[in-house]
Formats: sequence, structure tokens, C-alpha cells
Amino acid sequence: MEENPPMTLPDGEYRRRVYLDHAATSPLSAKSQSAMRAAEEQAFGNPNSGHWAGAAAERVLDAARETLGLRAGFSGRVVLTSGATEANAIGILGLLRHAALKRVLASAIEHDSVFAALELASAFGATTDHIGVDHQGMVRVDHLRELMGERPSVVAVMHANNEVGTLQPIREIAELVHGTGGMLHVDAAQSYGKVDLSELKSADTIALSAHKLGGPKGVGALLVRDGVFLDPPLGGGSQEYGLRRGTQNVPGIVGFARAAAESDPRKVGPELEARATALRSGLVESIPEIRWTGDPVKRAPHIVSCVIPGVAGDVLAQSVSALGVAISVGSACHASSGEPSHVLRAMGASTVEAACAVRLSVGLSTSDEDIDYAIEVISECVRRLRSILLAGRQIPLLETVERIASNVSSSQEVGHEP
Ligand code: PMP
Repeated sequence: MEENPPMTLPDGEYRRRVYLDHAATSPLSAKSQSAMRAAEEQAFGNPNSGHWAGAAAERVLDAARETLGLRAGFSGRVVLTSGATEANAIGILGLLRHAALKRVLASAIEHDSVFAALELASAFGATTDHIGVDHQGMVRVDHLRELMGERPSVVAVMHANNEVGTLQPIREIAELVHGTGGMLHVDAAQSYGKVDLSELKSADTIALSAHKLGGPKGVGALLVRDGVFLDPPLGGGSQEYGLRRGTQNVPGIVGFARAAAESDPRKVGPELEARATALRSGLVESIPEIRWTGDPVKRAPHIVSCVIPGVAGDVLAQSVSALGVAISVGSACHASSGEPSHVLRAMGASTVEAACAVRLSVGLSTSDEDIDYAIEVISECVRRLRSILLAGRQIPLLETVERIASNVSSSQEVGHEP
């Protein structure tokens, strides 16, 4: 049997670390970090206390709320949460608790946190349904119309999908939902700060996350449009307009607002798009039969998702990680489950195709050198994994990774220090 030719990556570059998983999380920006440190020192009070220290923290929170709402071009309440997961739960369950008809519909490609809210809703007796999507991951508005009929429903449709990046026609969906007296919740965790959100003006509630745009983890917000009523799913206290109990994470929220202020989609969007385009061009030139998933035009600028026939996505992700390149198999929340992506399955992909999918996502810190190195590593790993497949050798995952890594470490002897 023919041996694999040696890796052809240039000496000394093996230990470069390239992070292409910004859709999972982005590193904390320097400005966000220093704003958090200042808030920790200067606004240490509990914003719910009546004295001067509380008032100082409250002022800081109010300024952060204003920045967060402005960045979304949204007028309404800004409810501070522990992230988009909690914002999705409060938005969906809060609207549902207030609604006369206990019925909630969500697109089949939502984030897990939305499905978790639906499960809870159904445990409390609500009826739930999933709205289908087309092959590009676009919500089928005709299916939504059919499911709703004349009855008002709470509807959850995300703005940008976190695995394939497709952007949904939120304006059209909002019109349809409001036409029957229903309410619309939108998860904008992936689009906030990267995409113009004017499409979302008519959404009733919007979930945001800080750590996708350079803010800290464990912080987010739910935007609630003026005149929209929610009943708090966990019982309301005095904080956060009665919708969320607990002392707010003041420094985290300040860091979120600072990151949001920095993220002007008119500037950030094209910069991310340029990096994603460079990545796509390099990959398409070096990987035969690679196929892009998601809508080719209406998509978030930072996500590059693809199917590489003949190469299992999880094997590829582990192989390139051994060479310093971080990519993912769909959503980070699914990374350990081994289940094929529910998003690609809903888009009509077979289980085999879904198993051959990977997601690469760029950030503002992604350099040209990062992109060149990632293209080289990914295409080389694909070539080797395909040649293993062609040779008919059934090499289990870990063994494959070890082989590639040992090949690399022998080359590393002449490379730089990490
Ligand atoms: N919705 C989407 C679309 C996401 O990508 C994520 C993050 N994986 C979340 C919700 C959850 O956000 P958080 O980590 O802030 O709870």
C-alpha cells in the first residue's frame, strides 16, 4: 500500500495558532477589558441600592442600556441578562405567558436555547411546532403562514443562523406574524454589531450576546419593543423592569456596551466579509468538490460553512486543531454530542453530508497570514484524510490525528518555539 507523502507545509510555521471560531466566541477586546476594569473600581455598588454607591452603578447601567439599544437602532426597554440563552428564554416564555393562546412556533434551525424554551413551554401545556427552511437555510414563509393560520402565535425566528450564516427576512415575517395578532421574538446573537439591524425594527423582542462581538462571556440583553408586554417566566423582582431577578453584572454589562459601541456594522461587516471571501477563495482553489452551505448572498459576513465530501467534519476539525487551527463542526454547543447538525438536516442535507460539514468563522483579529496558514493546513489535512479513505484503510479518529500530529512534531524540531 502506498505511503502518504510527507506534509508539504513550510518548515517553522507549524506552531502558528489560528482561531477561526468567532461564531462560538470572540476574544475580549482590549477596550472592553479596560472599561470593565474601570467599572469594577468606580461603579462597585449594587445598582439597586438607594445610596450614592448604588446610584453611581445605576447611572453606569443606564448609559450601557442606551448604548446597547442605540447600536440596534431599537427603541424600547433593554433588559440585561446573563447572555442570549437567558434572553431567548425570557423573550419566548415571557411573550407566551402574556399571550391568550399558548402556541409557539420556531424555525427548525434555531439555537438550542430556543428549543429548550419550547420544551419548557410544552411542559406547561403550550403547543409547539417547527417552521421548515429551504436548502439555503431560509425560513419558508409559506410554511409559517400555513402553521399559523388565522390564530395568533408567538413566533421565534433567528436573524443570522450560527452554523450556516443565513439571514432571515425578519421584516416580512414580522408583518405576517403581526397580521394575525401574534408576537415575534428574534435571536440576533450572531448579527448584532456585524449586520445592519434595521430589518429587526418590528420584532417584539430581540436576544443579544456580549461575547460574540468582543464583550465578556455570561452577559447579554433582551430588547423589548415599546408597548410590548411580557410576563416574567421566573417571577419578577424589582430589577430589570420586573422581568429578571438578581443583581446585575455591572462590569460585564459595561464591557458589553463598550464592545457594542466599537462594533459599527458599516465598518465591521465589510472587514469581516473581506476576510471570509479570502478564506473561501483559498479553500475553493485547494479543495476539490468543496461546497458552501447557507445562502450565498443573504448571510452573516463572518461565517464560512461548507461540506467537504469524503472527510468527516469532526476528524478534520481535530486534525487541523493538532496543527494549531481552530475550526468547528457546526455549533459549539453540539461539538461533543456527535449528532449531525440539526440545521443542515433541516436544510435537506443527508446525514453523510451533514457529517462532512465544518464551520469557519473569522473575526477582526484574523490576519492575512492566519488565513493563508489555515488554507494550507486545512487543504493538506483534507488531502491526507481523503487519501486514507481512498486507500480503504479504516483508521479510527484518534489514530488519524496522532499520525498527522506526529508528522508535524517531527517537522517542529526545526520550527519556532510556540
Ligand atoms: N443564539 C445563538 C444564535 C448563538 O450563536 C448563541 C451562542 N452559541 C446563543 C444564542 C447563546 O448565547 P450565550 O452564549 O450568550 O448564552
